[in-house]
Formats: sequence, C-alpha cells, structure tokens
Amino acid sequence: MFNADDTVSSLESAVALVNGADQDDDPLGSVAALDAHYSRFAYTGRHDRTREELASVRATRARLRALLSSERDASATLVNKALSDVGAVPHLARHDTTDWHLHALPADAPLPDRILAETALAMMDLIRADEVSRLGICAADDCDGIVLDLSRNRSKRFCSTRCTNRVAVAAYRARQAMS
Ligand SMILES: [Zn+2]
Ligand SMILES: [Zn+2]
Repeated sequence: MFNADDTVSSLESAVALVNGADQDDDPLGSVAALDAHYSRFAYTGRHDRTREELASVRATRARLRALLSSERDASATLVNKALSDVGAVPHLARHDTTDWHLHALPADAPLPDRILAETALAMMDLIRADEVSRLGICAADDCDGIVLDLSRNRSKRFCSTRCTNRVAVAAYRARQAMS
C-alpha cells in the first residue's frame, strides 16, 4: 500500500486542479487562486505568480486528468511519457519542516512541469501498488469530477460535498414527489 505523504498530497493537488474546471472556486481561476492552491498544498520552489504561469498550469490540466483517470496500463504509459517530456530527475529533498521526500525536478523548474512530474511520480506509486482503482469518476449523473478514495472501506462516491449534497437533495425531492 502506498502511504507516503507526498504521494497523497500530489494526488489531492492534481485532483483539485482537474476538478476546478467549470467551478466557481477553480484553483486555476486566477493568479491569486493558483497562489492559494500553492500555499494550501505547501508547494515550494519556483512560483512566478504571472498570467503566463497560470496559463501554462491550465494547459497541463487535460494531461493531469488523463493521468488520473486512465486505466492502469494506459496510465503507466502516460506516467513514463510525462516524466520523459519534462526531463524529470527524481531525487530526495528535505526542506523546512518536511523530512526526506521525492521531488521530480529542481526547485527552479517551471511550476506546471513540477506539478505534472509530481503527479506522475504519485501515479507511479499507485500503479506499482496496484491501487489505481483508488481513483474514479464522480457518481453524480452530470459530473465528471475525479474521486480520490483513500478510505479503508472505499466508500467515497462523489468528488465534492457539493455533489454529495446535490444528489442527496435530488433523492429527497424524488421521494417527496412519490409520496
Ligand atoms: Zn518538497
Ligand atoms: Zn462530482
């Protein structure tokens, strides 16, 4: 079982970036939103805080989605391709209060490349542990959000509390209409 904190954090960050598309609280909605995402997930290293950087992180969103939503064999191919495309040099890093953990690129590499490579490293962990099934698509009818289920009993079905609540309200209304 994979359990490294950096794996979980990289996956959660990538899921939030992918699921933010079309949401009001998109972490890629503005330079400030990306800045908040960077802080929230305790990123370190280069962060330009420019519209160009924001645009290039946005441009990786489709690749992040493919990494997170492909079946295991296809995902392995995408992982290899992503690591090779950004010239990843996996290495151990230790900084601030964080003990030795994996980095895929030097700290001065562009943020979108580091996000892509760190997502690929995290997927490497999931693939090796044969735990790709921890990732799925939201069970709400009209949502294609990614669900990362790390719960012991694999009970998570929705991408967000918004979807959980929406589906609960719809089910309640359906029951009311029938009675
Ligand atoms: Zn680090
Ligand atoms: Zn959803």
